Amino acid sequence: MAAPSIAMESRHQSNCKLNKAEKKLLRKQMKAKHTLLRHEGIEIVSSATQNLVVANGGLGNGVSRSQLLSVLEECGLVDALLMPPNKPYSFVRYKTAEESRNAYVTLNGKEIIDNLGQKIILYLNFVEKVQWKELEHQTLPPGLMVIEEIISSEEEKMLLESINWTEDTVQKSLKHRRVKHFGYEFHYENNNVDKEKPLPGGLPDICDRFLEKWLKEGYIKHKPDQLTINQYQPGHGIPAHIDTHSAFEDEIISLSLGSEIVMDFKHPDDVAVAVMLPRRSLLVMTGESRYLWTHGITPRKFDTVQASEHHKSGIITGDVGDLTLNKRGVRTSFTFRKVRRTPCTCSFSLVCDSQRKQGPPSFPWNDQEASRLEQEYVHRVYEEIAGHFSSTRHTPWPHIVEFLKSLPNGSIVADIGCGNGKYLGINKELYMIGCDRSQHLVDICRERQFQALVCDALAMPIRSESCDACISIAVVHHFATAERRVSALQELVRLLRPGGKALIYVWAMEQEYNKQKSKYLRENRVSQGWKEEENSDTSIQGSLVEQLPAVGNQDVASVVPSIRDVQEGECHSREVANAKLPVHTNRTSFHSQDVLVPWHLKGRFGKDNAGQPLDSVVPCDTHTVFHRYYHVFCEGELEATCRTLQNVSILQSYYDQGNWCVILQKL
Ligand code: MN
Ligand code: ZN
Repeated sequence: MAAPSIAMESRHQSNCKLNKAEKKLLRKQMKAKHTLLRHEGIEIVSSATQNLVVANGGLGNGVSRSQLLSVLEECGLVDALLMPPNKPYSFVRYKTAEESRNAYVTLNGKEIIDNLGQKIILYLNFVEKVQWKELEHQTLPPGLMVIEEIISSEEEKMLLESINWTEDTVQKSLKHRRVKHFGYEFHYENNNVDKEKPLPGGLPDICDRFLEKWLKEGYIKHKPDQLTINQYQPGHGIPAHIDTHSAFEDEIISLSLGSEIVMDFKHPDDVAVAVMLPRRSLLVMTGESRYLWTHGITPRKFDTVQASEHHKSGIITGDVGDLTLNKRGVRTSFTFRKVRRTPCTCSFSLVCDSQRKQGPPSFPWNDQEASRLEQEYVHRVYEEIAGHFSSTRHTPWPHIVEFLKSLPNGSIVADIGCGNGKYLGINKELYMIGCDRSQHLVDICRERQFQALVCDALAMPIRSESCDACISIAVVHHFATAERRVSALQELVRLLRPGGKALIYVWAMEQEYNKQKSKYLRENRVSQGWKEEENSDTSIQGSLVEQLPAVGNQDVASVVPSIRDVQEGECHSREVANAKLPVHTNRTSFHSQDVLVPWHLKGRFGKDNAGQPLDSVVPCDTHTVFHRYYHVFCEGELEATCRTLQNVSILQSYYDQGNWCVILQKL
């Protein structure tokens, strides 16, 4: 924690004269200041200068150049406005220090509405200079090329018209885009193709002349034999990923049609580069850019682009005083790849599935890895421990009961991640539906005569706005990336009718073990009373606490600030490629936000693990230890995550027995 500046201290001393709102504003402003320094290396000065950094007033959180400028100009003449791409802040220089002081006083805490209609609060601080250091990193990822105007408008039209979306040969409607495969079908379950089962017909004839031309002109070296056509509606994207090494050869090319898009490339060391793909351009990924960098399209309705016309393709860089937002259109891409016949021998073995060794799981840094981690370290584990888990889950928590009892009779309520259904029968006047990812847990609910179904919290088979309320108890912390946690909450909000409420519980990083240790142990022995807490939920039945040595490197160095960190500051997750996840020691404080939490399975619930051993199982002498993945939330993090959701207001936010809790209402 940085030491507060002298100016801040003196303001602190006069805190007693400030009213509650002013204190809150000051706190938020200081948080913004700390976050900017820690994550972005931006140093704030305490005396007034001509220059200000505007936290939350950035392209990265949907504020356009013209919107911000009109607000800033109310306070004086703006000399320069720098809006770095994808950053949640901007820099402004006023003509005089007087004017910037005026802006500092009048605009701190000012609410503005962003491009998507969300409320955003600005926090301003003085800086010495208006500059943006990260520009120097902004070069294209090695091995990447964007060739503009590779085809004519007529050819573009012809290609677009050649796609028969209604034909039901090979056509998948993924969550947010339309997809067609040629040559080989691409399987999204394992991100690979079935190399023994080529599709009849091969690639469409129309593609041949283009591929031949690109080969002749040297843009590509191999003739592709697989084509994926994707159609993206504005606001839709594709999660960051690396195309499976073992599935395809080095060269991957993608033709953009219909509309331009910004594609985000990210190096595991957290260098991010936004690349503009204009319509009719060809993206060629080879070498490092194909094997090591992830690529993805952030789902949003606007992209950051150069405001002036001359710089159209490639990297979003140049003059950061010249960036603005561009509305997306419908984009269709033709991605050509060549199916690989031998294992990959690239020099990026850490991300190479052909060269992967088995071992403890790493921190996931893309959606694919996160999903795999959850499958192995959440879904499979709950399936295995369901019986034992259920036997330790009988006492409902008072605040959750209170929430359920406060709902009007006849309300339709979804319990997302219902476990053994301990909340499904609390209020007999409600119509409750339980959902869980674990078949065994859902079976237990059904045995207890509850309505329950197996489903994934990211894609609920429930009609939008059909629920009066939802509860999500100890679920969201099992999603392994910030994006997936937001998606889970978004999905929950989707189910709510306007005015409907949701109660969300997640594990807190901040545990009060020292204070409560003796109480916990006593409660466990008695196994009665509601403080049968969810957090130290291993070794029930009075058995001793099993201490597992922590593995891996817990002191992970760099952090990835999320866009919303600037709003909520202090807490951030440690997202580092290839960092092994540490194993948590039960009933101790958390040392990392992303951890594996042991579950000790023994007695009549311990099965003799016949069949395939699980990665996530460590056999001990007398019993079996399973590891469940958790992302424990810091103070303010759940609230900040909820604040990224649209059409939601936070009614209540509190701490309850090692959990951060929020009650939301859909607007
Ligand atoms: Mn790809
Ligand atoms: Zn490889």
